[in-house]
Amino acid sequence: MQTNLPLEFIATSRGQRADEILRSCVHCGFCNATCPTYQLSGDELDGPRGRIYLIKELLEEGTNKARATQHLDRCLTCRACETTCPSGVAYGELAEIAREELGPTRPGVIGLTRLFLQWLIPNHRILRTMSYVGRYLKWLLPKPLASQVPSKISKTLGSQPSQNVHARKILLLQGCAQQVTTGDVNKGLVSLLDAHGIGVVTAPEEGCCGSLDLHLGDSTKANAAIQRNVDALFPLLDGGVEGIISTASGCGVTVKDYARILADDPKYADRAKVLSAKTYDISEYLSQANLPLTAKQPGQAIAWHPPCSLQHGQKITGVVESLLENAGYTLVPVADSHLCCGSAGTYSVLQYERGEALKQLKLENLLAADPQVIVTANVGCQSHLATGTSRPVLHWIEMLK
Ligand code: SF4
Ligand code: SF4
Repeated sequence: MQTNLPLEFIATSRGQRADEILRSCVHCGFCNATCPTYQLSGDELDGPRGRIYLIKELLEEGTNKARATQHLDRCLTCRACETTCPSGVAYGELAEIAREELGPTRPGVIGLTRLFLQWLIPNHRILRTMSYVGRYLKWLLPKPLASQVPSKISKTLGSQPSQNVHARKILLLQGCAQQVTTGDVNKGLVSLLDAHGIGVVTAPEEGCCGSLDLHLGDSTKANAAIQRNVDALFPLLDGGVEGIISTASGCGVTVKDYARILADDPKYADRAKVLSAKTYDISEYLSQANLPLTAKQPGQAIAWHPPCSLQHGQKITGVVESLLENAGYTLVPVADSHLCCGSAGTYSVLQYERGEALKQLKLENLLAADPQVIVTANVGCQSHLATGTSRPVLHWIEMLK
């Protein structure tokens, strides 16, 4: 694709990168075939190729802000288009640059909701209190917010470090929403690893990974969150931990990206690089750790939903499946497993109807072979899917002992 970006923009590292990415697109449109929002609407501007054109226009002329905002806000940032693209177009990075150009503010109710979510989600103590209150006042809340009230709320926040001393240890990321809605996942992992001779440490000062603000185009808040996390996590690497482990693929994909995001930050770049290189999804870690993991319910039929942040963001495929099958489970076939479930961070609130439509499509596919359990690898997908079915929706790690 030919580009004509303003010279002052090209002179910046963001501008240079945007130019490179735009030029790598050859307009073939293959990506549209795997884009969930294109499949919903059939509108070229709700597919990656159309959005890339809108971004190019935005960065070159800046005259189409309203249209670019509308169609970029409808994008899930699932990055299925990246997996499909034969030219290796880094769509996610380009969308991030465009969102930064558009800024985080929006008019009216949506703008207020965005601000509210940016404030609420990283404050896990307040989030937990409001989740309890939300249970009683659900009938008063607008549908998009009522749908987010978790059916299960963790009694305690965070997971305690291992009680036993082990020669091997990992640093476990706690997450924010994860502590409130799926807190048992990390608590269970601490026990699982303890039983297999691996200790767990946590960083008391850890905060939100920054993905929430990044997706909403608020680079100032995102960078502040990321820098705070580098300060919180880096000192703990000195204690001989084998890696920084995430059980929420949506957080893990962002922490792995700290090196890129802070590459131009003289104070943080080096530490961010080390930190990203030492971050692993729990599936990567366990597949290397070679532990004799077994099934809690051998032979149970499981439907696996790979989160976009795992399969498209971190490019991890087949690993969880092998771990579950080796442990003694049977995985049922699931059609269109490359498609997003509609959770996508705050998308299920801000784009409620689209999020619900994608959830229904996903659940139809997950339940088609009548599995006993649905498992996934990210707090957002787990909570979102659980609101649409009575079948248990768990993190896959909860299936192992
Ligand atoms: S598949 Fe890749 S090269 Fe083709 S239109 Fe989509 S982003 Fe561009
Ligand atoms: S990130 Fe997902 S929703 Fe957005 S354009 Fe790519 S495939 Fe479509």
